[in-house]
Amino acid sequence: MENIDWKNLPFQYMKTDYNVRCYYRDGKWGKLEISSSEYIQMHMAATCLHYGQEAFEGLKAYRGKDGRVRVFRWRDNSKRMRDTAEGIKMAAPPEELFKEAIFTVIRLNERFIPPYGYGASLYVRPLLVGSGAEVGVKPAKEYLFMVFVTPVGAYFKEGFKPVDIMICRSHDRAAPLGTGAYKVGGNYAASLTSLEIAHNKGFSTTLYLDAKEKKYIDEAGPANFFGIKNNTYITPDSKSILPSITNMSLMELARKRGMKVEKRPVPVEELSSFEEVGACGTAAVIAPIKKIVDIELNKTYEYCKDGKPGPISTEFYNTLTAIQNGDKEDSFGWIDYVI
Ligand SMILES: *Cc1c(COP(=O)(O)O)cnc(C)c1O
Repeated sequence: MENIDWKNLPFQYMKTDYNVRCYYRDGKWGKLEISSSEYIQMHMAATCLHYGQEAFEGLKAYRGKDGRVRVFRWRDNSKRMRDTAEGIKMAAPPEELFKEAIFTVIRLNERFIPPYGYGASLYVRPLLVGSGAEVGVKPAKEYLFMVFVTPVGAYFKEGFKPVDIMICRSHDRAAPLGTGAYKVGGNYAASLTSLEIAHNKGFSTTLYLDAKEKKYIDEAGPANFFGIKNNTYITPDSKSILPSITNMSLMELARKRGMKVEKRPVPVEELSSFEEVGACGTAAVIAPIKKIVDIELNKTYEYCKDGKPGPISTEFYNTLTAIQNGDKEDSFGWIDYVI
């Protein structure tokens, strides 16, 4: 694209040429359709509009120095979408359909894939919604699976930089046995009030605690939490956390460099003993954390005393982004070539 400013791309929707759609009707998935419209026609009684039968995914395609286009761990996104679909009783797109959809939509929009070297990528957003009409509370009989893409810039415009976050005790994003482990829009609706509170106070996001006892760390809004100490990578274990593929990847990188990995309940007080802490997810890869403020308890935990991200977080960030961009060989089997 001649007139896209690749260097200053925001993390924002930009219209591209095509999206793909597939309908589930009469108990089976139809053929993948290509559309150039940004709009969908939907029945006003569709279950996604009334009862929250909606799931999404997020992954990225990257152009390497060699010009080839890579996607990162798409099978895990596909699996997670099927788990989410099962969790809220929707028809799930099979792996072959998921693959066909994302590979097709990436190829069709090749001119929107940012060139190598800007830290930018093509964000891929699969959506699954209950499209069948129901008025009573029950799963829809019809579903729409669609995927659109949009080019996005590097999350950290001024480079990889630590952020401040706040512990949220006034709101929860998910109940202990609720839908926290599923990638559904409802969890995000539940998080918007606390996110606004955090932004108004100058924090980049909220850190949620377990909803039952408020004793353990759950996750950070749209990203998982990790802490590092004594050569150990520690990340919370909880039924209300969304299993982040970035987090799974960091655990593997940690093991590979000889660190111990612990997935277990992490009490809030443990925050004072970590050497490095961060939030991880597809958008930022790692957001290193400088300060965590527990406003209600009037307590502050500080890291990155020299203002810079910790050495291990930095190494993980560099390694993972290098694998995604194709600068570093992928010994894990995480990369597939689309182009
Ligand atoms: C998508 C998401 C994440 C990050 O998952 P990745 O697979 O690493 O992108 C973390 N938490 C929540 C609530 C999410 O929805």
